[in-house]
Amino acid sequence: MTLPPNVYDAEPIPASAKAEVERLLQSGDLFRYTAPQDAPVSLMESEFAEMMGTKYALAVSSCSAALFLSLKALNLPRDARVLIPGFTFAAVPSSVAHADCVPVLCEVGENYRIDVADFEQRLDDNISAVIISHMRGHTSDMDAIMALCDARDIPVIEDAAHSLGTTWHGRKIGTIGRVGCFSFQSYKLVNAGEGGILVTDDADLVARAVIMSGAYEHNWQKHKAPEGDNAGDLQAAFAKWQNQLPLYNLRLNNLSAAIIRPQLTEVPRRVRDGRANHDYVAGLLNTSPWLAVPDKLAAEDRAPDSIQFNLVGLDNDQILAFQAAANQRGVKVQVFGQSTDNARAFWNWQFIKDLPELPQTRAMLMKACDVRLPARLKRDELDTIAGALTGAAEDVMGQARAYGT
Ligand SMILES: *Cc1c(COP(=O)(O)O)cnc(C)c1O
Repeated sequence: MTLPPNVYDAEPIPASAKAEVERLLQSGDLFRYTAPQDAPVSLMESEFAEMMGTKYALAVSSCSAALFLSLKALNLPRDARVLIPGFTFAAVPSSVAHADCVPVLCEVGENYRIDVADFEQRLDDNISAVIISHMRGHTSDMDAIMALCDARDIPVIEDAAHSLGTTWHGRKIGTIGRVGCFSFQSYKLVNAGEGGILVTDDADLVARAVIMSGAYEHNWQKHKAPEGDNAGDLQAAFAKWQNQLPLYNLRLNNLSAAIIRPQLTEVPRRVRDGRANHDYVAGLLNTSPWLAVPDKLAAEDRAPDSIQFNLVGLDNDQILAFQAAANQRGVKVQVFGQSTDNARAFWNWQFIKDLPELPQTRAMLMKACDVRLPARLKRDELDTIAGALTGAAEDVMGQARAYGT
């Protein structure tokens, strides 16, 4: 039998990154604004914007930084209320807190997606902006969300940290709202250790974000508009905001860009393999009466590098026993709500004043399991993981069923 693989290891960085990293080490040219033009960070921004089909991209130090800058770039007043999902990574409410805004949480359903009825209700409670976090790459109903937000003229920021390569009706996730944010942290599809990027078609928004990211003095001149495309708009926006905004210095450095650039061409392959792996394992897990992988939404084509499933008919002791049995079989399962201080459980975001209760989201988090499934895994490794999970459920529940307890 194949041993369970280490699912925390990343893929090797493409060999072609080496020569460029070596060149940068030789020249010491690591700061994005030293070269007069074509610094690796600038080239990466152009390539990423082209890949996404957006006018502008701004590379920054993390997706969290991209989310924070997006909020600041929207020019929201202090204490503006920002609606976010109750199931996301702590980085999302943190970005709202850093922007001196107030996070407002909405319910998330059993399928890990925003509960649109609850979202709509809270949207009318003095909300100034929305962050849609496509948590673990699960896309919420963007048709309904955009219709509700557009009707009220509320800007939407997409947290697409885990959604690079995901599409909705064929449109790229991260390009549907006013601005989309991505991560290059090691557990995401493109790995630079750390890093992030925001994409938008809004010249005024990107000009504000560029300056606040640390393009002091006239360094914004090194951010080019796409060829022949509203270059005047971007110049005018930079002129308008010159010296008007604080600098947060959240820039990316050239070494990170050199590591990211050769991975961008790998994205379609990683998406294809990740999706095939996910759907194969989902089919195996769904054969167990105790495991349920929620269906994707019809408009969605996903790019998963992990799998989430719900435990069905297990009480809390049995959920913990399942987790222990899977661990015994060599597969580590995170049950979001069951571990102490989990950063994806909203009740641990205690920096939020008057933290609300979200019964539906809490119930989901107490039984929702998370297993990493990187695109590089092979069939026998997937069989081993799926076998460990269905076997662990059988270990705990088969006996209960046999004895009718
Ligand atoms: C990883 C992640 C983030 C944070 O990304 P960083 O680049 O580490 O700041 C935000 N949101 C989601 C959904 C994530 O998965």
